[in-house]
This record gives sequence, structure tokens and C-alpha cells, in this order.
Amino acid sequence: MIKLHDLYFKPFISEQEIAAVVDRMVHEIATELGDEIPVFVGILNGSFMFVSDFVKKYPKPCEVTFIKLASYEGVKSTEDIQRLIGLTQDLSNRTVVVLEDIIDSGNTLEEVHRIFKNERVKQLLIATLFYKPESYKKDFKLHYVGLEIPNKFIVGYGLDYDGLGRDLPEIYQLKTTQHMTNLV
Ligand code: 5GP
Repeated sequence: MIKLHDLYFKPFISEQEIAAVVDRMVHEIATELGDEIPVFVGILNGSFMFVSDFVKKYPKPCEVTFIKLASYEGVKSTEDIQRLIGLTQDLSNRTVVVLEDIIDSGNTLEEVHRIFKNERVKQLLIATLFYKPESYKKDFKLHYVGLEIPNKFIVGYGLDYDGLGRDLPEIYQLKTTQHMTNLV
């Protein structure tokens, strides 16, 4: 168990399990895209470890870029998504694969779709390492999902709790006590 700020987290998904999920996603996407040279767009900050591992394993030529969005305050998702760094390159006629660390309410994904609405991409595919189906409120298609997880707050492998925990190589889950049930 680890403590970050005032909260306790318990081990949830190991480094080996994450690696196996990333391998499977790489294989699935590379197989489907064939000789197409995709542009992978990571959503910062949370996706930096996933994107790094993913593109190192990707067996064919690809491009990588990032946009930076923020929606979380502490352990709660907010609807106010801020665009901190936008797209900086022309993606006309390109196959774009968005690499998300986690999809929770879907608010961030809605902003991603807004960003790409006026780009004339050839196709926009959404890949997420983690997905919380119980809290997803949107209709956008998720083309590639690594792992479905329960609606509980996690940290590690890029994901933080108020700045801490991003550096952890494995995933931890918030250990809840009764007075915390409004947080999960
Ligand atoms: P959404 O907009 O779908 O509610 O949430 C997406 C973003 O919120 C993610 O990119 C991530 O930054 C953050 N997020 C959602 N769920 C969690 C979680 O369980 N733990 C952490 N650390 N961040 C989360």
C-alpha cells in the first residue's frame, strides 16, 4: 500500500499486466492499419508513459505528437476541459489514432472530437488504455480499449493524484473508507 498526500492506494494492475495489454493494443492497431503511416496523438499529461511504451513497440513507421488537456481536480472529473496545448501540425488526410490514458466520463473525449472536427483527417480512431464503462456518459465510439476497470480512482503509469503518482510503473487503486465513498 502507498500513501499520496492524504490518501491510501493499494496495488491494482502490475507492470507485467500493463505491458501485456499494451502489446495486445499495438498488435491490434498495427494489424488493422497495415501499411498506413498513422499519427498517434497522445493526450497529456496522463498518457505520456502509455504513448512512450506504445510507440516503442509499434512495429512500423509512425508519427507521434501530443495535445495537452486538463479536466481533473483532485480525484474528481470536471466538465470544464481546458486546452493547454493544441494541435500544431497539419493532419489533413491522415489516419489519426488518439492515445488516451483513461476514459472516465468522456468529457475529455468530447473535447478531443471538438478539436478534430475541423481537421480534414482521413479517419479518427480512439484508443484508450483504461476505460470505466460505469461512468462513461457519451456516445463516441471507442475503437480500441486496453482494460475495462471499475469506477474507482487509480494512480500510476502516468496517472496522478494532485501531481503525485505519475512516476509509478504500476497502477494503484484508491483504498476507500466509508467517509470517502463520495470520491469514487
Ligand atoms: P474524463 O474526461 O473521461 O472524465 O476523464 C479523462 C481524464 O481524467 C483522463 O485523461 C485523466 O487525466 C483523468 N482521469 C479519469 N479517471 C481517472 C482516474 O481514475 N485517475 C486519475 N489519476 N485520473 C483520471
